Amino acid sequence: AARLCSGAGGEAAAADGDGAMLRHLARKLRASGPVTVAEYMREALTNPGQGYYTRRGGVGESGDFITSPEISQVFGELIGIWYISEWMAMGKPNTFQLVELGPGRGTLTEDILRVFKQLASVLSKCDVSVHLVEVSPKLSEFQAEMLTGGKVQPNPEDKSAYMKGVSKTGIPIFWYRDIQDVPPGYSFYLAHEFFDALPIHKFQRTEKGWREVLVDIDPEVPDQLRFVLSPSRTPATQNFIQPEETRDHVEVCPEAGVIVQRLASRIEKDGGAALVADYGHDGTKTDTFRGFRNHKLHDVLSAPGTADLTADVDFSYLRKMAQGRTATLGPIKQREFLKNMGIDLRLQVLLQNSGDTATREQLLHSYDMLMNPKKMGDCFNFFALLPHHRLVHPDKKDKPESKSPLPPVAGFNELLLK
Ligand code: SAH
Repeated sequence: AARLCSGAGGEAAAADGDGAMLRHLARKLRASGPVTVAEYMREALTNPGQGYYTRRGGVGESGDFITSPEISQVFGELIGIWYISEWMAMGKPNTFQLVELGPGRGTLTEDILRVFKQLASVLSKCDVSVHLVEVSPKLSEFQAEMLTGGKVQPNPEDKSAYMKGVSKTGIPIFWYRDIQDVPPGYSFYLAHEFFDALPIHKFQRTEKGWREVLVDIDPEVPDQLRFVLSPSRTPATQNFIQPEETRDHVEVCPEAGVIVQRLASRIEKDGGAALVADYGHDGTKTDTFRGFRNHKLHDVLSAPGTADLTADVDFSYLRKMAQGRTATLGPIKQREFLKNMGIDLRLQVLLQNSGDTATREQLLHSYDMLMNPKKMGDCFNFFALLPHHRLVHPDKKDKPESKSPLPPVAGFNELLLK
């Protein structure tokens, strides 16, 4: 099953054999007191030695959760078409970087690059390069294998990248740990199930005002973690709660805010667009922090480092953090976005071309996973950052009749390739 879209974790899995991460955290908590949920999540997911993504990496059928690109090739193909459609609408610049944040097993990029190859005649005069932002050495190995057949060069001297290679279709690929290391330039950004993996702070309204939820060691049970409330306000309660907030429980992901600010500044300065797809809400949900292990909900405080931890993306926060540097579109439901991108037509073509019943059943099953409102169709959303001039002519105010209308943005409207 895919990661579910709501509901906090239930079932606790047996503790991991070595429990190294738990021992490390327990020592730290005993020595210096409780930590924020964000610090706990960061340690559990991306600690360089024992973090979940560093060691396990969990994406895919044999892992802990499965994602849309792993379910169907059609997903990545339609996203590839989105980039081509935006590239055309923006006047076919002669170069662009495809920058993916958190590429998992590399399947999404692989499907996008296949579309770029199929549309090589359209892209023929365009110089394309791929830039992957990935903290996990284990997942970067998977990506290298998938995209280059494993032919990569570590620590290239000419770049800020930690690894480089060439895709099977001849496109240069570079790996970085941080978006800031990616060279400036006209770029199309992609973040699929990336923002939900970034650390969140959790807050609770009490009679004495806002308090932050912290993770502590349970004094009664050895090496067992528990949630506690901060006795007073914390720097995060001061900075991250909006005065007009009406909810009693709130999750905030400042790291997502910083990354969106960076994306928006880069798009404003160098051009391009960003497409963000994830499960999330528009500033309405309260308690979405949960864990996944072996495709099942997992208690977030049990056996840290062995389970994926995640929280719904707050798209209203991302929109706010773009700070007007770019325009934003969405969030729009996955099933609407994919429908607008022509998923039905693509399915028909694949069904017609497939001879055997098993393949046809598989195609229909994966379509249902992506589109069914009760599966991934409703809870996954698409959200985009685009330069203002992509949506409104800069001189429209002065001479409204002088320009032809701008082409609609695919996915958020029906696809129009001209
Ligand atoms: N986009 C993929 C994988 C999603 S899992 C898919 O949809 O299948 C989240 C991905 O983000 C993993 O590749 C993980 O290693 C990466 N990741 C998590 N935190 C990160 C961070 N702080 N910086 C860069 N990559 C990160």
